[in-house]
Amino acid sequence: MNAAPPRFACDVMLGSTARWLRMMGIDTFYDNQAADADLKRLCLEEKRILLTKDAALHGSMPVGTSRRVEAVHTREQLREIAGAFQLVRFILPPRCSLCNGELAALGKDAVEGLVPSYVFRSQQVFQRCSRCARIYWPGTHLAKISDFIAAVRNACD
Ligand SMILES: [Zn+2]
Repeated sequence: MNAAPPRFACDVMLGSTARWLRMMGIDTFYDNQAADADLKRLCLEEKRILLTKDAALHGSMPVGTSRRVEAVHTREQLREIAGAFQLVRFILPPRCSLCNGELAALGKDAVEGLVPSYVFRSQQVFQRCSRCARIYWPGTHLAKISDFIAAVRNACD
């Protein structure tokens, strides 16, 4: 079994699933403007596994380079993907849900004026996306993510 986590590309049908994968720390390409041919080329060049709802697109990919996602709802899709690729082994510090950038810790001093004042007063730990500079803190996104990861973890056991 591979030691490195899989890298994915999601088709246009799987936008919210792509965002959740990113929040679980899984490197996931998603662009709702990407044509099938672009996705195929990207997956082959960057060794990403294509996650798709499209049977024809799945069938056109070399064996082992794509997976047809059967589940309909986001949560079930994530369970299906997490189970198939044993993702629980790879859950890392989260990536940005908007742009897939890596998050880095940020000192409290650096965020004054950049977050709502109640957030600045009540939170001690902040993270910033290295690419788009969106700021995250535990009271919001991270708590929801933790709950969700726990649910995925349980589903994988
Ligand atoms: Zn970002």
